[in-house]
Amino acid sequence: MYDYDLLVVGSANADLVIGVERRPGAGETVLGSDLAVHPGGKGANQAVAAARLGARTALLARVGDDEYGRLLLDSQRAAGVDPVGVLVGGAPTGVALITVDPSGDNSIVVSPGANGRLTPADVRAAGSLFHASRVVSVQLEIPLETVVEVVRSLAPGSRFVLNPSPPRPLPREVLVACDPLIVNEHEAKVILGESCVSERPEDWAGLLLAKGPRSVVVTLGAEGALVASADGVGRVPSVKVDAVDTTGAGDAFTAALAWRLGTGASLAEAAAYAARVGAAAVTRAGAQESYPTAAEVEAL
Ligand code: ATP
Repeated sequence: MYDYDLLVVGSANADLVIGVERRPGAGETVLGSDLAVHPGGKGANQAVAAARLGARTALLARVGDDEYGRLLLDSQRAAGVDPVGVLVGGAPTGVALITVDPSGDNSIVVSPGANGRLTPADVRAAGSLFHASRVVSVQLEIPLETVVEVVRSLAPGSRFVLNPSPPRPLPREVLVACDPLIVNEHEAKVILGESCVSERPEDWAGLLLAKGPRSVVVTLGAEGALVASADGVGRVPSVKVDAVDTTGAGDAFTAALAWRLGTGASLAEAAAYAARVGAAAVTRAGAQESYPTAAEVEAL
């Protein structure tokens, strides 16, 4: 019996957002809106998304001993995430400085801060969390050596889900553990590198599978997603909604998919559910603020 349906290992950031008429060029100063501060970071987002759906969720992350760290801990607790694995101190909380213009285009600078100090030793010290969790979900806003240590810490029988964002080449040890590897178009192309000679998502899925993952999911925004495994490649239908803000949709999709897989759903079933969760998330503004409950997914 597992204590947690899902353990998320990853980043927690404060998103500092300012609306501007025009994003500044080099050496330029522009005046913008009041500052809005939101809890974010791919790890924190995934944990909140899963807990909101009803998954028993824990987060292993690092924040600073500061105001933003407390904001992040509060948002995890409010969503029902067990923050037992959230380590405090060592560096300031990670921050994303975001300017958004009226067309919705943004410029983002990230200071990883405490996320960059989540070490392999932290993962080893959290060993009991790995034995208590059915599924472990990771992204790449933490050091790669920490991700490698997560793979080495997986309990027998648990499942490893990776969204390689922001993308970078991955060691085979990590790739072969993924079940699934979840990528969007940009991530697929970075991981495939020169071997990516096609514009067809079905081809990316096949090429990625050949790199070792047991399964692959390619997310395609409003077009839905693709699933691929030894059983073949399948389309996951998109859900038609009026999109308001796609921020954090990928994190909601990944969290929902990871949780459903742990409940025994097939990859196709879990991805179909995740597509509904992603679609629900884009109908509201923000990232964590936009994530649906299970009842809201049912009603979609
Ligand atoms: P992110 O911007 O969060 O990194 P991503 O690029 O990783 O996102 P997307 O493909 O944008 O991920 O979205 C994840 C999933 O959410 C999609 O596969 C799809 O199922 C759903 N989704 C996203 N955008 C829409 C939309 N406009 N309409 C319906 N569903 C959507």
